[in-house]
Amino acid sequence: MIVDVHAHLDMIEKDLDLVIKDAKAKGISTIISNSGNLSSCKKNIEIAKKYPMVKCALGLYPLDALKEDPVKTIEFINKNIKFACALGEIGLDYHLPKYSDEKSIKTQKNIFEEQLEIAKNKKLPVIVHSRKAELDVIETLESFNIKKIIIHCFGGKLKLTKRISDNNWYFSIPASVVRAEHFQNIVLNTNLSQILSETDSPFQSPFIGKDNEPAFIVEGIKKIAQLKKITVEECINSLYMNYQKTF
Ligand SMILES: [Zn+2]
Repeated sequence: MIVDVHAHLDMIEKDLDLVIKDAKAKGISTIISNSGNLSSCKKNIEIAKKYPMVKCALGLYPLDALKEDPVKTIEFINKNIKFACALGEIGLDYHLPKYSDEKSIKTQKNIFEEQLEIAKNKKLPVIVHSRKAELDVIETLESFNIKKIIIHCFGGKLKLTKRISDNNWYFSIPASVVRAEHFQNIVLNTNLSQILSETDSPFQSPFIGKDNEPAFIVEGIKKIAQLKKITVEECINSLYMNYQKTF
């Protein structure tokens, strides 16, 4: 059984009935659709209600926290937390100068911490985004006593990869690992027991020029199996065990 722990089904343009059908045909049993703002939280709850194989993660993405009223979104997440299997996609992102001045960083951190607090209280896993803010993300997470942490598409240095492994957190590796050497290095330097797989659909497609979708996760899994020198079957089983431990 294959799980895509990180997709954005609410952002996929293709007909979702078809996306779900194609995913099932490739052996995918569960898709976790991540949210980034109020409207995507609402959409993902509806998608999860419609398709039994879809679970939703609710969250306010760091850059969206600066674009909409975060109080309203956090309130919505709190009220609807029973629909969520995780908090996601949450984190910190300093890659745009206009969203990384002192005031914006402070807002991003407050919103991130508020959501970590929800996860801690509800004993839910967190799916974490970090871009040009890797150390701040790690330090913030270390200050919270949350057991299940999934680091999504980590772009930080090898030294920080090691720190994440030592903390017993998980890396979710996108299907674009087929061509992204950086993700291949994470796989090579991390124990298989701390790896999950994802697509980040519709982004980060393993196929250049083609929108990503959960069915393509198989490409990533094949690559992980190759890097770990195991069969695809063994890889699928290990990844599924890791999923069961985290969600
Ligand atoms: Zn994402």
